[in-house]
Amino acid sequence: MTKIYYRPAELREASALKAENSEAVYLAGGTQVNRAPLDRKVPEMVIDIRDVVPAGIVKEGTDMVIGAMATLQELADSEDVPEALRKAAGFIPTRSVRNQATVGGNIGAGRADSYIIPVLIALSAEARTAEGNIQVEDYIRDDHDELILDVHVPVPVGACIVVKESRSHVALPVVSAAVSLTVDEGLPNYGLSGACIAVGCVAEKTIRLTEVEQAVVSGNLKTREDVEAAVRDAISPIADILGSVEYKTHVNGVIIADAVIRCLEALT
Ligand SMILES: Cc1cc2nc3c(=O)[nH]c(=O)nc-3n(C[C@H](O)[C@H](O)[C@H](O)COP(=O)(O)OP(=O)(O)OC[C@H]3O[C@@H](n4cnc5c(N)ncnc54)[C@H](O)[C@@H]3O)c2cc1C
Repeated sequence: MTKIYYRPAELREASALKAENSEAVYLAGGTQVNRAPLDRKVPEMVIDIRDVVPAGIVKEGTDMVIGAMATLQELADSEDVPEALRKAAGFIPTRSVRNQATVGGNIGAGRADSYIIPVLIALSAEARTAEGNIQVEDYIRDDHDELILDVHVPVPVGACIVVKESRSHVALPVVSAAVSLTVDEGLPNYGLSGACIAVGCVAEKTIRLTEVEQAVVSGNLKTREDVEAAVRDAISPIADILGSVEYKTHVNGVIIADAVIRCLEALT
């Protein structure tokens, strides 16, 4: 049970409370923190960050800056953020959850089945935290936990597609991935200069399929079947109530390969 509740009025106070109480968790929308306990421990101490962390979505130069307290519904409704990000926010089931869940909370929770983390990685988004700036990819990969203030999303150059698959609209996903391709005029193979394939649901956290990315850019994967096989070889999902290893491997191969092909087609 949560016994201690803080609501700091200043950012410095929030950071100091966290430094003094390493077990305390930040409370943003609370969709994870207040979730009915299954096998997890409910935090005894929470630091409510609503008064010290920005919300809202604004344009700053060529970047979109998304306050960490912006809700996923605001993201889904925004006409300014890249379409892939808007679409990913819409994947979260039910408007009531989207109205409560925040962007910072989604990154902070670091769930393996996050819909938001893969697309932020694919878009090369950077988090501004209480301790400095860091790529969202590095924040997740290296298990950071510093307080995120906002997320900077550069204008995409090329194509970005998000995909998900779940048994029903409200079921937890077996596929959550984002593919982005960047282009540079004059290069062979559609002008491809880089690729990012960020994949959730197949490991303890979102990962990148770097070998598949390199093979896509170099043009070594000639057909849809080649991409499917490369994705299947690169992932090691575990069996659970959502599906067997074989099923998850197959469905991720098919759906992620389709996203890669659609991204390539979008460049022509
Ligand atoms: C039934 C249900 C199903 C869901 N299914 C999915 C799903 O499949 N995919 C998906 O992506 N989301 C899903 N969500 C939404 C999910 O809860 C998100 O992860 C949500 O965005 C968390 O945001 P929050 O503001 O509620 O976080 P909170 O619950 O307030 O916090 C979550 C964690 O993030 C940390 N945190 C919060 N804010 C920050 C910050 N600014 N900086 C650093 N750390 C911070 C906290 O310390 C805590 O550890 C689901 C939610 C529910 C209730």
